[in-house]
Amino acid sequence: MKKILIASNNKGKVKEIKEILKGYNFISLKDINCEIEVEEDKATFEENAKKKAEETYKITNIPCIADDSGLCIDIFNGWPGIHTKRFLGDKATQEEKNRAILEKMENLEGEERNAKFECSIVYYENGKYLVGKGELKGKIAKEPRGKNGFGYDPIFELDNGKTYAELADEEKNKISHRKKALENLEKQLTNA
Ligand code: IMP
Repeated sequence: MKKILIASNNKGKVKEIKEILKGYNFISLKDINCEIEVEEDKATFEENAKKKAEETYKITNIPCIADDSGLCIDIFNGWPGIHTKRFLGDKATQEEKNRAILEKMENLEGEERNAKFECSIVYYENGKYLVGKGELKGKIAKEPRGKNGFGYDPIFELDNGKTYAELADEEKNKISHRKKALENLEKQLTNA
């Protein structure tokens, strides 16, 4: 079966992609001892994902999928969006980033806390792109809650009142922004 390289250094993303898309021969950058850090300097999630997939393919010559995703907060016109990973610089810990968002929103209530996670997943092979997109709406919690998942999961609250980090892996992977984007991509992969 054809190998597909997941062009990401984020262990959480790699794990979720493997758990969500069954029946593919995925390998990771770590599996091939490849250290690539593609600069995410584009204006949209889709363009950043395309850049990561294409640049990684050019170096490895293996069909690649890349994910670019982030948290978009309504009241801040979608901020941090494409800056979700680095809005506090390169050295900040995830706890510091979560705390910074909670502090910025400390006086906001109810719908003022509306947000969504967005995800673009791109498959790239030899000049051909396929793009899958997904989003999930929710709210920014008042405090971090839960121990599962990664990144901003403890501060992203769903309609059922739980944060992503309070869900079991299988529960998150049934409904997440990444699940929707991968489902969308898979339809195109099987038709390609
Ligand atoms: P990038 O896609 O590598 O630019 O990273 C996007 C940022 O969003 C990183 O800080 C990730 O930790 C975060 N992120 C992406 N997907 C998720 C998720 O499913 N849960 C929590 N944080 C996420």
